[in-house]
Amino acid sequence: MAKIQMKTPLVEMDGDEMTRILWQMIKDELLLPFIDLKTEYYDLGLKYRNETDDQVTIDSAEATKKYGVAVKCATITPNHARMSEYDLKKMYKSPNGTIRAILDGTVFRTPIIVKGIEPCVRNWKKPITLARHAYGDVYKNSEMYIDKPGDAYIVFRGEDGTEREELIQHFDAPGVIQGMHNMDASIRSFARSCFNYALEMGQSVWFGSKDTISKTYDARFKAIFQEIFDTEFSEKFKEAGLEYFYSLIDDIVARVMKTEGGFIWACKNYDGDVMSDMVSSAFGSLAMMTSVLVSPDGVYEYEAAHGTVQRHYYKHLKGEETSTNSVATIFAWTGALRKRGELDEIPELVSFADRLEKATVETIESGRMTRDLALITTIENPEVLNSREFILAIKERLA
Ligand code: NAP
Ligand code: MG
Repeated sequence: MAKIQMKTPLVEMDGDEMTRILWQMIKDELLLPFIDLKTEYYDLGLKYRNETDDQVTIDSAEATKKYGVAVKCATITPNHARMSEYDLKKMYKSPNGTIRAILDGTVFRTPIIVKGIEPCVRNWKKPITLARHAYGDVYKNSEMYIDKPGDAYIVFRGEDGTEREELIQHFDAPGVIQGMHNMDASIRSFARSCFNYALEMGQSVWFGSKDTISKTYDARFKAIFQEIFDTEFSEKFKEAGLEYFYSLIDDIVARVMKTEGGFIWACKNYDGDVMSDMVSSAFGSLAMMTSVLVSPDGVYEYEAAHGTVQRHYYKHLKGEETSTNSVATIFAWTGALRKRGELDEIPELVSFADRLEKATVETIESGRMTRDLALITTIENPEVLNSREFILAIKERLA
C-alpha cells in the first residue's frame, strides 16, 4: 500500500526517559509504515538541551510558530537530583514553560474515553476539557511574613508620579500577606483561545470565578470574557448552537459534578491547576489525558499530560520488562497529524489519525491493555501487555 504523503513538516520535539522509548516505538510501528512522515526534528532530551544551553527548546518553539503544528514528547524539568544525574551546566527552566512563554496561549486537557475505564463520577458520559489560564495570579506572586504589629498596604506608583494605596490589614499579631497580578492582554488571549477552541470542537464554554468576593480582580476576568464573547463570538456561537455560560466558581464546580460532560471548562490559573488533577483522576488516569497548547494566533502544540515515567525507565535500563501506557503519546501524534491534515487539506492524513485512535481505543476495549489500566478496568480478566506488546497489538488492529 502506498504511504500517505505530507506537505508541511510537523515540528517534532523528542523528549526524555520512558516516553522517549515509547516515542521511537510509536514512530517505528504505528507511523512510519503508513505515512511518509515529514518532521523537523528537535531533540529536547535533557542531554541535548544541556549541550545547546537550552537553545534547542527556543528553536523548537520558533519552528512551531513558523509551521503551526508541533508534537512534543514529555521532558524532564531539571531539579537538584537531575543536575548531577545529567551533569548539567545549569538548572534549566521547564521546557513547557519556555515554549508557553514564546507561543503564549492556553492549555486544553481532555480525557480519552474508553469503555471499561469508567469515570468515578457516574453521570460523566462525555469528556470534560479543562482550559487552564497559564499566566500570573498566585504563580507569580510576592509574599511577606509579618512578624510584628503594623499596617500592610498595597501600593501602586505610577510612572507619572501619581500614587494609590489601599490598606490590606492592620496587624497587631504575626501573619502573612500576598500580592499578585494579571494582565488584560493575557486574559483577552485566554478568552479568545477558549472561544476559538470551543467553535472548533463544537462545544460550549463554562467559566467561573469569584467576582462576588473579588470585586475588582476576578470581576476583571468576568468582564473581559463577556466583552470578547459579545464583540467577537456571540454570532458564531449562536450559529453553531453553542453557549457561553458564566457563574461563580463554586456554582460551576457543583454543576460540573451533575452534568454528563461534553463541554470546555475555562479556569483561572490556580483553579485549573487543582481542577485538572481532579478531572483527570476522576476520568481514570493521567496516562489517558491529552494536552494541547493553543496560541491566540492559532498555533498548536500537542503532548501527553503525564511526565517521563522515570520509575519505569529505570526498570527498562535494568533490562526489566515495563508496561507503560502509550495512549496519551499516541493521541499527541494523532492530534498533530489530524491538524496538519486539516490545514494542508490531506483527507487521508485526517482519516489515518481517526483510524489510529480507533484502533487504540478498540485494543483496550477488547481487554488488551497496560498494567495501569488493568488495575482500574471493569473488563473482566484483562490481558496485561508490556510496553511494546501493547503498541504491536494496536498495529495489528490498525493494519
Ligand atoms: P510521571 O512521569 O507522570 O509519572 C508519575 C507516575 O504516574 C509514574 O511513576 C506511574 O506510576 C504513573 N504514570 C504516569 N504516566 C504513566 C504512563 N504513561 N503509563 C503508566 N503509568 C504512568 O511524573 P513524575 O514521575 O513525577 O515525573 C517524571 C519526570 O517527568 C520529571 O522529571 C518531571 O519533570 C517530568 N514531567 C514532565 C512533564 C511534561 O513534559 N509535560 C509533565 C510532568 C512531569 P507507577 O510508577 O506507580 O507505575
Ligand atoms: Mg497540579
